[in-house]
Amino acid sequence: MNVSEKDIFHVHTYRCGHAENVSDEEYVKKAVSLGASGIWFTDHAPFPGDPFGNRMKYSELDEYIGTLFELKKKYEGVISVHIGLEIEYFPFFDKDGYYKELKAKDNFEMLLLGQHMAETGPGEYTFSWDKERLCSEEYIALGNAQIQAIDTGYFDVVAHPDRIFRKRKDWSEGMATMADHIIDSARRRNIPLEINESSKLQNNHYREEFWDRAYEVQIIHGVDAHAVKEVRVL
Ligand SMILES: [Zn+2]
Ligand SMILES: [Zn+2]
Repeated sequence: MNVSEKDIFHVHTYRCGHAENVSDEEYVKKAVSLGASGIWFTDHAPFPGDPFGNRMKYSELDEYIGTLFELKKKYEGVISVHIGLEIEYFPFFDKDGYYKELKAKDNFEMLLLGQHMAETGPGEYTFSWDKERLCSEEYIALGNAQIQAIDTGYFDVVAHPDRIFRKRKDWSEGMATMADHIIDSARRRNIPLEINESSKLQNNHYREEFWDRAYEVQIIHGVDAHAVKEVRVL
């Protein structure tokens, strides 16, 4: 997987339910108009049985890949259309072979780790924690999940690794230690970390303190576009 500097990385589609209701081709056309060399689609991946919101349905997965593959062929020689998914790492679904299943799909290129929540037990997730617990412990659960995910080898890039600290106002020793563990894991596995442009628009989602520690690790800039107007060359 090779993301060029003139590529547009991290683009969602209408299927996730919280992005602009336009065809996938509109994103491609905008990227072409900007002179981009490639566009990487990474819509929110479904899980079998559709247990979570804010993502495409499991039944839409093959249509998503198929539609993007048609665009890839149509725009060959103009722009490289890449087909990926953004997804959390949950050990339960790993045991079930789901990440292997995704990676084995025809014409599918990359998995972007987007750890928005973590599995805390069988069928239990951090989103059911109360505010206080999220504030004190969420970054630890999400950070450990990211490290575990990186070690599986399924993931090609880690999206917004610093967003795990979103509930924390002040930077602490514990956060620095977690940041170092994530960065070390990514460096060891040679997995790029994403500086997420949309994180910069929200309080405490983008953490300068994290990136100050991120040396000797590959960095990719992602737009995390949920609308055509958010597609831009960085
Ligand atoms: Zn989204
Ligand atoms: Zn995203």
